Amino acid sequence: MYIDIYQYINMKESLKIFKALCDETRLKIIELLLSGEKCVCEIVPFTKRTQSTVSIQLAKLENLGIVKSRKEGKSVYYRISNPKVRKILSKIDFSKWWGIERKKIRWYPVIDKEKCIGCGMCVATCGRNVFEFDFKKNKSKVKNPYNCMVGCDNCSIYCPAGAVSFPQKNRREFIQSLLKKYNIAAKARENVMSMKGGEG
Ligand code: SF4
Ligand code: SF4
Repeated sequence: MYIDIYQYINMKESLKIFKALCDETRLKIIELLLSGEKCVCEIVPFTKRTQSTVSIQLAKLENLGIVKSRKEGKSVYYRISNPKVRKILSKIDFSKWWGIERKKIRWYPVIDKEKCIGCGMCVATCGRNVFEFDFKKNKSKVKNPYNCMVGCDNCSIYCPAGAVSFPQKNRREFIQSLLKKYNIAAKARENVMSMKGGEG
């Protein structure tokens, strides 16, 4: 079988992305950056790794051409620079949350069609393929509501028209009730303990 130069470049590009995704810390970093640019000070607590581990993995991601950094004062910010990352991650199965059927959890964005001005921000910034753009109506719509990350409400913050909302009004209360109901804290602890010895 022959492959042309474009297919070859595409394969090399995909391999680079898979290489980036095969490390737990890097995967966590990418998961966070899918919702937009973040400061190192936000990335470290999210990954629950040490600052030095995160710095090493961020440097690797930058070398692979997956992320780009910029300095602002004393802070360093990172964002995803390779658009293919979003495409590949959109194929991931989001049907479960901590082993629980995702459809059992009422957390998803709702668009008020009257308010939507069709800027496309929600489609472009969500890394989970939740939205699609309706070119006929010149507005966005929710295509895969249960792909939405439980507890994330970034698109409602990004939407300039205030058109995105969530069924649960008190996010913290809702998430805390889920943690209790499904004993998530114990599962999280188990996960963290299983990482012991994997540092460095
Ligand atoms: S970000 Fe808001 S206004 Fe823009 S397309 Fe999405 S819902 Fe509509
Ligand atoms: S809240 Fe859900 S739909 Fe909105 S950006 Fe986050 S994951 Fe995507």
